Amino acid sequence: MMPDYNTLLLAIGLAGFCLSATLFATWMSAQVERFLLSWSLGIGCIVPAVVVYSIYFDNPDFRIGCLAFALQFLGFAFIYGAAYRFRTGRRGRGRILAAFLASSAIALPWLVAGYDGAGFVALNLLIAAALVATAGEYWRGRDEAPLPLTGMVILYLLTALSFILCAGVLIHDGRMVLGHAPDNWAENLNLVVAIMGISGIGAMSLALNQWRVARNHQRAANTDALTGLLNRRALFDRYGEETVGAHRAAIAFDLDSFKSVNDRHGHAAGDAVLKAFAAVLCDACGAAACVARLGGEEFVVVLDRTLPHRAQHIAECIRADFAAKLIPIGGRSISCTVSAGIAFGNEACASFDSLLSNADKALYEAKRGGRNRVSLAA
Ligand code: GH3
Ligand code: MG
Ligand code: MG
Repeated sequence: MMPDYNTLLLAIGLAGFCLSATLFATWMSAQVERFLLSWSLGIGCIVPAVVVYSIYFDNPDFRIGCLAFALQFLGFAFIYGAAYRFRTGRRGRGRILAAFLASSAIALPWLVAGYDGAGFVALNLLIAAALVATAGEYWRGRDEAPLPLTGMVILYLLTALSFILCAGVLIHDGRMVLGHAPDNWAENLNLVVAIMGISGIGAMSLALNQWRVARNHQRAANTDALTGLLNRRALFDRYGEETVGAHRAAIAFDLDSFKSVNDRHGHAAGDAVLKAFAAVLCDACGAAACVARLGGEEFVVVLDRTLPHRAQHIAECIRADFAAKLIPIGGRSISCTVSAGIAFGNEACASFDSLLSNADKALYEAKRGGRNRVSLAA
């Protein structure tokens, strides 16, 4: 048994309202993933659109029809904006406004002129276009979470297809003037698909939000807040359990007399020096090495598949670049130096811990030798 049209409309209205409220509350609790806000605004427009449309269904006055159309266009423009924001992180207000104004400008004049049949064809095709564009945004961003995003794309495309079918039936009828809301099998199917689409897409949007929040936490837990380098935890997560081969090198760095930089120029200046050193490390190593701040003014570079002369060359470049660097601090510039110790894996040094400890011993030798130098572990 097929529920009647108004029952389906009511179901969409209720499902939409609950989802919109849930997404809005989720966004309120974190206020990070703003695509959720745009999405809940979109559904938040479609709910009153459904109410107004059900009034139009019983009383086909063109002014009520125009309001229902405009609310739907606004809702789907926001839903497109949410997808754009999800992918790019940008607001996309211009796109939302353009989609809304263009759709209204194309469809509403037909309704006002009394050609409601043509108006409904335009409405369905324009909404389908907005949904296809929305699916396109998620498709382009699918690398982030392939499974849920492909699911979203499919649901958006199915919903778009159901709108195209509505337009197709009206075009097939060929009546420019209907005098009432269209009522046919495609309209019913459209409502059923829309209920499924709204619920499915809503649930997946929530899951995606959770996934992004978890990923951001994970990233924050592995990153040193001052320099943006990996922190000690991330370094040990990466290498802690592995046995160290003969071609893995660790270079330990410790800034020289750093305490006196803090004492003479202040803690903020010390922070600027730490950031400057992190930049030197990244410039010298690129993506080829793993660079981490172990804590304080101690850093480490892990090189894989490397030979002693290459590791020594990299450490020497970093030392020289940093010594030559003038770090601007409140109108002045200061400089600082760094000492480094290099160790390689071998049979006696099979754990990452012992590799680091050997690099530390070599670093101690460099400090004893007068600082601002590189020393290779015996
Ligand atoms: P050495 O040449 O022997 O390494 O001497 P040093 O002064 O660099 O070594 P020491 O261990 O005595 O001092 C390290 C200083 O680093 C002490 C601490 O206040 C400072 N420090 C640690 N973490 C930070 C930080 O995040 N910011 C700033 N500005 N200073 C820090
Ligand atoms: Mg130190
Ligand atoms: Mg030091």
